[in-house]
Order: sequence, then C-alpha cells, then structure tokens
Amino acid sequence: MKLFYHPDQERHAPGTFLLRGRPAPSPEGPVRAELLSQGVVASGFSLSEPDVVDSPLLRSRLAKVHTHRYLEFLETIHGRWRELPGAAELVSPNVHPTGGGHHYPRHPVGQAGWHLHDMACPIGAESFRGILASAATAQAAAEAVLGGHGTAYALCRPPGHHAGPDRAGGFCFLNNSALAATVLREYFARVAIIDVDLHHGNGTQDIFYYRGDVWTGSLHVDPGDFYPFFWGGAGEEGMGEGLGTNVNLPLPLGSDGAAFHGALDELLERLDDFSPQAVVVALGLDAHRDDPLAGMALETSDFTVIGRRLARLSLPTVLVQEGGYPTEHLGANLTAFMDGFTAG
Ligand SMILES: [Zn+2]
Repeated sequence: MKLFYHPDQERHAPGTFLLRGRPAPSPEGPVRAELLSQGVVASGFSLSEPDVVDSPLLRSRLAKVHTHRYLEFLETIHGRWRELPGAAELVSPNVHPTGGGHHYPRHPVGQAGWHLHDMACPIGAESFRGILASAATAQAAAEAVLGGHGTAYALCRPPGHHAGPDRAGGFCFLNNSALAATVLREYFARVAIIDVDLHHGNGTQDIFYYRGDVWTGSLHVDPGDFYPFFWGGAGEEGMGEGLGTNVNLPLPLGSDGAAFHGALDELLERLDDFSPQAVVVALGLDAHRDDPLAGMALETSDFTVIGRRLARLSLPTVLVQEGGYPTEHLGANLTAFMDGFTAG
C-alpha cells in the first residue's frame, strides 16, 4: 500500500470555529495529522510526499469537481478580505443567502456568505496552500492506484466530503474523495465512493447527484438530529442519469458497532448492483464513542471489522481520510482500520 501526506497541509490551521454560538477551539487542525501519522506508523507503513502541490493537471481535475468561481474564491478571498477596513484576520461569513439568493455578489463579504456554508470554515492567509496540499495528497493516492498499487491511503486534512460544487462546509473546502474518484474515472468507467464517516457526505452527494458513473453511498447519523442537517435522508437517491446511484443509510444518534456493521453490509449489497471497477473510501473515524463530535458509539475494534469488510470487495481502492478528531484513540482507530483492511 502507498500512503501519502504533504506537510504543506499544516498551513491551514484555523484556531477557532463557532460552536453553538460560541467561539471554540477548532478540532480540525494540524494535530490531527500528527495523531493519524502515528496510526500509520503503528500499522507498519510510512508516508510519502506527493510530488506536486499545485499543477495544471490538479487544477483541471478540480474544475471537474468544483465551479470556477468557487476555486477562484478560495484562492483570492483572503487577500481581498484583508483589504476591507477593520477586517479580521480570518475570513468568516456573517450573511448567507438562506433559502435562495438571485445573484452572485462582487463584495468579499457577500462571496464569503455565498460559499462558506457554515461557521466551521474560516480561511487564513496560508489556508489555500494547505487546502490545495490536501487535495494533492488525494490525487497522489489515486494516481498510485492507477499506477498499479492495489490500495493507497491519503492522509488528507482539511477533510473534503462536506465540500460541494460551489461551497465549503464542516471544515471541508475541496472535496478530496470526489477528486480521487475523478482521477480513477480517467481509467475506470464505474467508480464508487463509500463514505463511512460519522456525518453524511453531503458535498460528495451533490457533486455526483445527477451522474450515473460515480455511485455514492453514505452511512451516518440521521441528519434530522445531526450535522449536516439538510442532506442525507434515505429518500435522496440521485436524479436524472444519477437516479439510483446515491444511497443514504442514516442511523440513529448513538448507534453502536453492531448497528454500523449491519448497515455497512446493506450498503455494500446495494453497491453490488452497480458493479464498480474501483472504489474510494471516504474514511472518517469520528464514529468512535469518544470522538468530540459525539454521534455514535463505535469501539476501536469496530474499525478493524469495517476495514476487513471493505477489503473483501477486492477492488482497486483509494482510502481518503475524512473526519476523526483528536482523542487518545484517533491514531489507534486508523491502525485498527488498516489492520483489518490488510488482513481482509
Ligand atoms: Zn465527520
């Protein structure tokens, strides 16, 4: 297995986000990469650096996932924001086109409200480089699989699965899993994204909702009670050519490993009809019982079961790191998944 991480990812390091109306320390920071790296080492693997962070090829692939104006926004907003009188160091929205909006604004405050869906996505001076490095890491892993490695892992942070075609959300800016699927699609006709993060992969769903070539499936806490709240219901099945290729299996808040494994079996049964040729696993580890985002009750050993089950698909696989926040268990949860995957 080839495993990738680029140190430039550390350049995106927002200190705080807004939690229940209060500024709180952001759980999505460089310390996650440290803990996950320890998990990689404990699995007996080592991390390689992607050759490039920025390239015309990466940009052209990102343009298949995100809108042009959103990519331009991510790259330029911090400089334009800082020119505003009295502007804070971090770009943060304070006005949103909730429920609609008829035109795309020129003003940086308006654009921040348009693209930054929630208060978990502040952008600092160095953020874009870090965000791009995370995407480059996903790209490198997908290229390794196209190059003949059966499996590759991308230690991506910031994560990506809440990032939609035209918006950031939930700590996510560029959709790394969708990018990996886009790279795989250059060779494979039918690619599946299996999202085992605690939260619904709403950005990934939106990116492929009308397409029949990339199947998207997600296990997550019922969004009636949990972030991302407005997506992730079982009735969202894709539309047009994508009809039937989006599968959501919401689980009750507080679900344990047994419930999760049963739902994963069902998800993979549903995937079978699609006959995928390659897979991206949106590998969130935040369903652990001690994760600060507190949605499910999986034990560390449950990630071994998940890894083993996904390995049994016996398909070229890109593992893309999504959620999983700092606890003493985070590294061990990744090790547990890797142990199961390599044994499976
Ligand atoms: Zn998550």
